Amino acid sequence: MRRSKIKELLGGKQAGDEVLVQGWVKTRRSSKNVAFVQISDGSTLADLQVVVGESLPAYQIVDSLNTGCSVSVTGTLAESLGKGQRYEVQATSIEVLGQADPETYPLQKKRHTPEFLREIAHLRPRTNTFGAMARIRNQMSQSIHGFFQSRGYLFIQAPMITASDAEGAGEMFRVTTLDLDNLPLKEGAVNNEEDFFGKPAFLTVSGQLEAEIFALGLSDVYTFGPTFRAENSNTSRHLAEFWMVEPEVAFCDLEGLAELSEDFLKHIFSQVLENCGEDMEFFNRWYDNKAISTLEGIVNSNFERLTYTEAVDILIKSAESFEFPVSWGLDLQSEHERYLTEKRVGRPVIVTDYPMEIKAFYMRQNDDGKTVRALDVLVPRIGEIIGGSQREERGDVLLERLRQAGLPEEAYWWYLDLRKYGTVPHSGFGLGFERTVQFVTGVPNIRDVIPFPRTPKNAEF
Ligand code: ATP
Ligand code: MN
Repeated sequence: MRRSKIKELLGGKQAGDEVLVQGWVKTRRSSKNVAFVQISDGSTLADLQVVVGESLPAYQIVDSLNTGCSVSVTGTLAESLGKGQRYEVQATSIEVLGQADPETYPLQKKRHTPEFLREIAHLRPRTNTFGAMARIRNQMSQSIHGFFQSRGYLFIQAPMITASDAEGAGEMFRVTTLDLDNLPLKEGAVNNEEDFFGKPAFLTVSGQLEAEIFALGLSDVYTFGPTFRAENSNTSRHLAEFWMVEPEVAFCDLEGLAELSEDFLKHIFSQVLENCGEDMEFFNRWYDNKAISTLEGIVNSNFERLTYTEAVDILIKSAESFEFPVSWGLDLQSEHERYLTEKRVGRPVIVTDYPMEIKAFYMRQNDDGKTVRALDVLVPRIGEIIGGSQREERGDVLLERLRQAGLPEEAYWWYLDLRKYGTVPHSGFGLGFERTVQFVTGVPNIRDVIPFPRTPKNAEF
């Protein structure tokens, strides 16, 4: 018999059908002449109830069906009389595939703290939270590709290793094959010529520059992959390895980019609402009782637009006492971002035109000589989830900005070339995938929305 996943069984089969189900035991209840075994297989949040009557040979082994053990069950699908489920399986046979010793299996209780679950990251996919998280991540990944594919964007794979030593090496992880205990020296310093690439190499912090290369030939492209930051920020919103979505769009200005970011987020959120109802109800119940209504609100409203200058005015005039200072020229901290989106507007806010000094050299300079065409999308609870800009497409201005920033222009020869040969206005942004999953689910810590979190001093699994 072909195996049925619990999802298809609860959705597409009929009472009376013979079925084969395989999964892991969540709980077991036995009474005098019947046992109820809840099993899950990851296909859906709902457990399947397996009923084992005492007349069955399988009834002899129900006492060994411990939480966590894996089983193969055959039986008949039947309408369930119990509440909370439409169908159950009346078992005809049960085989234990792998035992889980109840003395040592760590997932005995119904609820465990997120901190504890992080220590057993090899078992946490068996919890409801991680199942729901994985299914929502999966849906969101699909929606991201779906959104861009339906608009004719090409998915470009940016390299993870970059040998350009110019991206702000302070926050980058170095990739090397040099023997750290026996470094080759040349004139008293490390001889990088002996390293694998003949020069220092790093893990990428962003696929933007590579995406720009492809956009300036193929028009509309996006990357979606892991990025790495060696920043030592131990916050609930920062990981050392996280996934980023980076569209890069030729012939597009900042206004076009703002529209794109709004359409994009709405698309992801509405698809999650449409396809992950059960999982969202779970997060709504256990993590944030506004998770669903927040997403619905966003899908049905327009994002607010503010310039950085307007945002700073609002913050200064507000009666809030902030931990960090607010004044024109300083970057917005997450408390400021949250005030704007949560208290002031109650919806996502797109802030544009930041001071030049606090933004990257490649952002297009405004005519005021003070601000650049930058854009951040702020959402309640999280603050920034998207950062982007219209890019400086004028070669002379870009060169000037590189020099001002003290960056080595030789290292950017190819980036400058793109402005020399057939330059066009273009724009792009980066969406932090895990921050978006955090926002969608209401899970407070970013370590709990990625399968294997990488943070300072932590890479066990
Ligand atoms: P922040 O100021 O919050 O540290 P950033 O300005 O450094 O973020 P960008 O370089 O603009 O971030 O990156 C684009 C997006 O990537 C951000 O809007 C955010 O959603 C996400 N992001 C940035 N750093 C991290 C991180 N360490 N962990 C998870 N997501 C991140
Ligand atoms: Mn940013």
